[in-house]
Amino acid sequence: MIPFVKPVGGESAYLGQREKRFNFSPPSKVNYHKYLEMIKVDPSEFTCNYKPWKYQLEPNSSCNLSCTMCAVSEWKTQKRAPDLSLDQFHTVIRENECLLELNLCPLGEPLMRGDDYFEMGKFARSQEIWTRTVTNATLLAVNENYKKMAAVGFNEIVISIDSFDDAEYASIRRGSNLSKVLSNVELFHNHFVEQSISIPTKLNAVLTTSNKDSLYKIIQGGVDLGFTNISITVDSFNWGIESFSKNNVYDQLDVNALSAVSSDWGKQGINVGYVLTTNRFLHKSPDLHQKCSWPFSSMYIGSDLRYPPCCHVGDPDVFEILPPQASSKDVCSPLEVWFSSSYDQFRRSHFSSGNLPDVCKACYVDQ
Ligand code: SF4
Repeated sequence: MIPFVKPVGGESAYLGQREKRFNFSPPSKVNYHKYLEMIKVDPSEFTCNYKPWKYQLEPNSSCNLSCTMCAVSEWKTQKRAPDLSLDQFHTVIRENECLLELNLCPLGEPLMRGDDYFEMGKFARSQEIWTRTVTNATLLAVNENYKKMAAVGFNEIVISIDSFDDAEYASIRRGSNLSKVLSNVELFHNHFVEQSISIPTKLNAVLTTSNKDSLYKIIQGGVDLGFTNISITVDSFNWGIESFSKNNVYDQLDVNALSAVSSDWGKQGINVGYVLTTNRFLHKSPDLHQKCSWPFSSMYIGSDLRYPPCCHVGDPDVFEILPPQASSKDVCSPLEVWFSSSYDQFRRSHFSSGNLPDVCKACYVDQ
């Protein structure tokens, strides 16, 4: 079996943070246990009697790059929607006292959001929520963002670098420059060392047709840059848009070789894990553990408070879960949407008796 990516700091850091959140907000523990009990039941008995415990929340919906494997490259402009305000952010977080994890990250680049983004991160951390973010690292040196980002106390900061070859990198991350990104990451890592803060970064690379033969160089490049956590997305998303499926090279990879790479680096203290999205879930199985976990545990919340099903779609203009009352209201809160009949219907489409939406079919092996 392919070794999946681990959280920065390992399971102990991740579960330790969860215990802190349970203590900070006791309803979160009750809710999480309700969830664990409910996903054990037969689908015919399933009722969503708990709140989502994981959010991916967009501070903004804009990017400064146009990467070949990203849905942003399909947008007419590099901004899909207005930014999430700080007030809206506080309202969303306060609405759900059961939230355990937050991925504060857009389909785009969060450092474009300005200083409110750091305030959002700090607020989530003040509530003992496991908080993660993702950046392309192009703007780390601007306005001393690297210092502000380090001061947030994120549990995990994922930095996207898909190649350590200048030309290959530039052909994938269109609009960026590898040497600038490498110097930014060096600046960032040095700052953590100077401040005596353990480095919470993780390198992520998405393998596509452009770089599928560069795995070893990517890992070595990451290690040379000071990363001890490396995740490799071996199964690039298609964002619910068929034309992106051509990027997916999973069938061309040797899973045993990937496992051996992880094991070899593990002996040197480098955590290499893989992100697998499609080719995983079983629609015909009655076991809810065999289904995509998004509909049952997590929400993706756009910066305009719209609700695509997950980060693998990310763009509500491609697919969104729209509560019936949305026509009469400008926006609905996450929990209004989570407990709506539309969300229930979306959840039930993952049961063997349901009809999966087209956007989800690539994630199931038996569709
Ligand atoms: S099955 Fe649907 S909700 Fe789950 S990851 Fe795939 S596209 Fe997203």
